[in-house]
Amino acid sequence: MTSYLSEEEREALRERYWSVRARMEEACRRCGRRPEDVTLIAVSKTKPVSMIEELAALGQKDFGENHVQEIVEKEAEFPDVSYHMIGHLQRNKVRKVVGKAVMIHSVDSLRLAEEISRCAVQKGLTVPVLVEVNVGNEESKYGFTFDEVEEAAARMALLPGIRVRGLMCVAPNRENSEENRPLFRKMRELSVDIRGKNTDNTEKGILSMGMTKDFEIAIEEGATHIRVGTALFGSRNYGNTES
Ligand SMILES: *Cc1c(COP(=O)(O)O)cnc(C)c1O
Repeated sequence: MTSYLSEEEREALRERYWSVRARMEEACRRCGRRPEDVTLIAVSKTKPVSMIEELAALGQKDFGENHVQEIVEKEAEFPDVSYHMIGHLQRNKVRKVVGKAVMIHSVDSLRLAEEISRCAVQKGLTVPVLVEVNVGNEESKYGFTFDEVEEAAARMALLPGIRVRGLMCVAPNRENSEENRPLFRKMRELSVDIRGKNTDNTEKGILSMGMTKDFEIAIEEGATHIRVGTALFGSRNYGNTES
């Protein structure tokens, strides 16, 4: 996976990075939030480690990946940053990612949560996780419906190897991303609701939402973690593994 960036590529990457950072700060200013309260997760899926290293040199610490194999390989090659698992996770791959990813954002079933907990306990770890919400009720997407989230989170909270830290969603891909604003707002409300009924194993403060097209709106609606790929790294060239 070694590849070298030309000076132009590095320059372009740095410019995109500072532009995203500036847009984040601007969004925070608009809604009276502190920039340090919003974590940028640079979604580096399909992109080479050289690009991760380049951003790391600028101070970027958190990276997002959606395939277990890619996290495992990149973590082995460049362990100096934090990798977040943000894509759909199959139960038979959980073992590989536990201990490599700092947080698993995409917990979309109770059985998956149980498997993560089991592997974590075996390894003597506690894994921070987020409950994925299918905010647009899309068939193509994973996650619990709004109605299911509270009970799912309560059950997950009883598992010994995980800590439920909050909620995550992949909002619908829309022409006009303003249409996602009410969904982000609903996520925020749900998070506040659930926190009101806190149990020992749950701190549901994290809201992982907002991507290239809608991260500013997500920040205005309370996102604590945004996951940005294209705006940082440029478009992705997929073979056949888009997910
Ligand atoms: C790819 C991906 C992103 C980043 O998407 P962009 O539109 O390129 O910013 C964010 N979250 C998840 C779960 C993804 O799979």
